Amino acid sequence: MMDQRLLEILICPKCRSDVRSTDDWVICDECCLKYPVRDGIPIMLIDEAEPLEECGEQ
Ligand SMILES: [Zn+2]
Repeated sequence: MMDQRLLEILICPKCRSDVRSTDDWVICDECCLKYPVRDGIPIMLIDEAEPLEECGEQ
């Protein structure tokens, strides 16, 4: 479980929007990208991000 206070200061490194989290990912709905969370640490790197499958409506 990620620290909620940590999530509050996180932004997407690509678009600088606020992000939301699931158990294993930090998600940017603006970019349709998900960033991995490893050992409770969000890896906010564009190179590490993966495309978000359920976000194809644009
Ligand atoms: Zn973004």
